[in-house]
Amino acid sequence: MNKQNHPSLFDQNDLRSVPAVAGQDVVVREVRCKSLLNRCRIDDYSFNCYVGCGHGCKYCYARFMQRFHPHAEEWGRFVDVKVNAVEVLARQLTRLAPGEVFTCSACDGWQPVEEQYRLTRECCRLLLEGGFRLNILTKSRLVLRDLDILTGHDVCVGVTITTLDETRARVWEPAASSVSDRVEVLRRAKAAGLKTAVMFGPLLPGISDTAEVVGELFAMAAEVGVNRIWTDVLNPRPRVWASVQQVLRTQCPDLYERHRRVLFDRTFRDDYKRRLDERIRRAAGDAGLADRLC
Ligand code: SF4
Repeated sequence: MNKQNHPSLFDQNDLRSVPAVAGQDVVVREVRCKSLLNRCRIDDYSFNCYVGCGHGCKYCYARFMQRFHPHAEEWGRFVDVKVNAVEVLARQLTRLAPGEVFTCSACDGWQPVEEQYRLTRECCRLLLEGGFRLNILTKSRLVLRDLDILTGHDVCVGVTITTLDETRARVWEPAASSVSDRVEVLRRAKAAGLKTAVMFGPLLPGISDTAEVVGELFAMAAEVGVNRIWTDVLNPRPRVWASVQQVLRTQCPDLYERHRRVLFDRTFRDDYKRRLDERIRRAAGDAGLADRLC
């Protein structure tokens, strides 16, 4: 392992390799961080106990992290575990005012390595004890493990769903929990008395942005009774197109040109966003959820 791969964020003296998570082709490294809770544009704060994400979504915007933390492995094939995350957070909490925390902003806090390391769980516990509020967004049913510490606090449990089609979800989000498991997360969080949210996105051109699919997504949200709904259009963030076009070329070449124009043709994109927004508002209205759209 090359220590130069991990610039200033980490104490580079403590890098070491640990075996990959069973059954997954993911390289796991243990590192030490200097700070965990950061100011954030979405909420007051965010934190990430991991660099990298074993879910390996093909459209993942967090790929930009590789610019700052280069790895030989491609996105989805490496995870750096900040093994001192809990002690660093505890130290930070002695001098920070409570606020809302987006959990997590550059990885999935409940990705497969979390089952073993339990860092996101412990950080959530510390934050809640300190009076912070949590806005969770995940694609993993592992978050259900932590309902015991989340229940009774000001917590919103959100899941991301791009399509209800399990086969397509497996192609685009290869190691995330099944879509039905994510819906189950919403149901059980709601039953536990927590607020719930869903992010529909990124809605993929010709795949999950059609009137029919958008209608199905909102019908599911209405049936579960989620409190908040976000939507997202596919964005041309750094490194995203290289990954997305690989999937398009092999799985659905007929949609390649449409994706390219949505991402890079400004006039086409503006018109596309306007029409998708109309579709979303119509579907939300039909499902009786217009007031839940954020
Ligand atoms: S779960 Fe989120 S952070 Fe992880 S790969 Fe997918 S989009 Fe990226």
